[in-house]
Amino acid sequence: MSDKVRVRFAPSPTGGLHLGGVRTVLFNYLFARQHQGTFILRIEDTDQSRFVSGAEEYISECLKWCGLHPDESPEKGGPYGPYRQSERKAIYRQYAEQLVQEGHAYYAFDTPEELEQKRRQIPNFQYGHMFRSEMRNSTSLPKEEVKQLLDSGAPYVVRIKMPVGETISFTDMIRGEVSFETGLSDDKVLLKADGMPTYHLAVVVDDHLMKITHAFRGEEWLPSAPVHLLLWKYLGWEDDMPQWAHLPLILKPDGNGKLSKRDGARLGFPVYAMSWTDPASGEVIPGFRERGFLPEAFINMLAMLGWNDGTEHELFSLDELVEKFSLGRVSKAGAKFDFEKAKWFNTEWIKKLEENKLRTYVEEVFAQNNISVPDRDKLGVVIGMVKDRCHLLTDFVLQGGYFFKSPESFDLDAVKPKWTEQKEEFFRSFAQILLEHRSLSSHELEEKFKELATEKGFKIGEVMLPYRIMLVGGKFGPAVFDITKLIGEEEAVRRIDTGLGAIGA
Ligand code: GLU
Repeated sequence: MSDKVRVRFAPSPTGGLHLGGVRTVLFNYLFARQHQGTFILRIEDTDQSRFVSGAEEYISECLKWCGLHPDESPEKGGPYGPYRQSERKAIYRQYAEQLVQEGHAYYAFDTPEELEQKRRQIPNFQYGHMFRSEMRNSTSLPKEEVKQLLDSGAPYVVRIKMPVGETISFTDMIRGEVSFETGLSDDKVLLKADGMPTYHLAVVVDDHLMKITHAFRGEEWLPSAPVHLLLWKYLGWEDDMPQWAHLPLILKPDGNGKLSKRDGARLGFPVYAMSWTDPASGEVIPGFRERGFLPEAFINMLAMLGWNDGTEHELFSLDELVEKFSLGRVSKAGAKFDFEKAKWFNTEWIKKLEENKLRTYVEEVFAQNNISVPDRDKLGVVIGMVKDRCHLLTDFVLQGGYFFKSPESFDLDAVKPKWTEQKEEFFRSFAQILLEHRSLSSHELEEKFKELATEKGFKIGEVMLPYRIMLVGGKFGPAVFDITKLIGEEEAVRRIDTGLGAIGA
């Protein structure tokens, strides 16, 4: 690993992780790996009012599930720790003070009530150059009064003094040249009354101290860029400023605005990487993992939201993405999210994934559904038989569960109306054949079944469908005689018995 490339994912642990957040992690990760660089996880938890218990652990687990392992993190440590901003509180004040001493920031003593009153008086009030002189701060109050206030321990915040009439520009790695007029932004708070930095100060100080070279973040952070650029300059670190890349938004399926968790609820698909339970309300917001997505497919799908390799090729493993990814091919425009396409990636990955890995995933899903798998080899055979029918990992429960557990219900509507005593007799005879000829192959068994049907005057379909329903519970699954052989003749006979009981009841 070299210090030439150091990137960071810097989430605020306030809830579930949106798929756009995971894509930011992914692009950071790909860039770091591609350059033999270092990928850092930094937890930006300075806003104590937004602290949500469990959110940090959830983020770490998401990264593990996706296989995007940080080189430095709160959990792992590293040479530039601590990696949780709340544990770095003591570091930031000196920089805020430096900015005040040099005239780039000031103390503001306005109480919440005073600010509220101003907001009521002035529509769209912004604490900035327009009203700075009307407020109670170290630019408007006499020096003596400022000193008195500070000496008496009056609460204050530190605000950046945004200049007027300057144009600030930088070159974004995705968007190219971006410029801002400084006068449009308000004087953002840098240090709060409780001594905690805000995001704006902490992100700049930490990117500097942690020697971040490239910063990838969502496009929604672009409006904050001028404040950050000024801070880099005022703190005298301009030459070390990371190169920025603001990633395009992930849009609603109809392209109208940013995809939100509410869109997921409305349209019936997950928006978070993993399910998130809000500790306050108990509300559960579904995740891709629980919906049955393979991390390999989830990652692949995310990479393609805003990037392609310039060909029609769409299926890439993480290693292939590390090799192929290039920022030059990341689009500036937002990418529409399409759940059907996401499922397509998963279907393809179910076909493509190395057998042993898939088996482990299916085992996990089975365990969650109380299906025990005493025989891993048998599971391998089952997966081979049914995987073409599965789009999501959870589909294996229906498509493969009956190989290990007899069906709990039968699709009786499909058999009951045409049921006759003769059919019951047929199945009793077939059960007898099963017990007497255990060494038959599935093909030979099928021949016996057909012979018996002809002998009893049935068309094959008339008895084949009921047999399938007795074995698996419904009208699905691979060839019934393959199923019979795999569950074993005795189990098949037990299912015939139970099935006959259910149909006759
Ligand atoms: N803490 C910010 C977030 O929650 C990080 C933005 C950035 O990467 O600068 O997304």
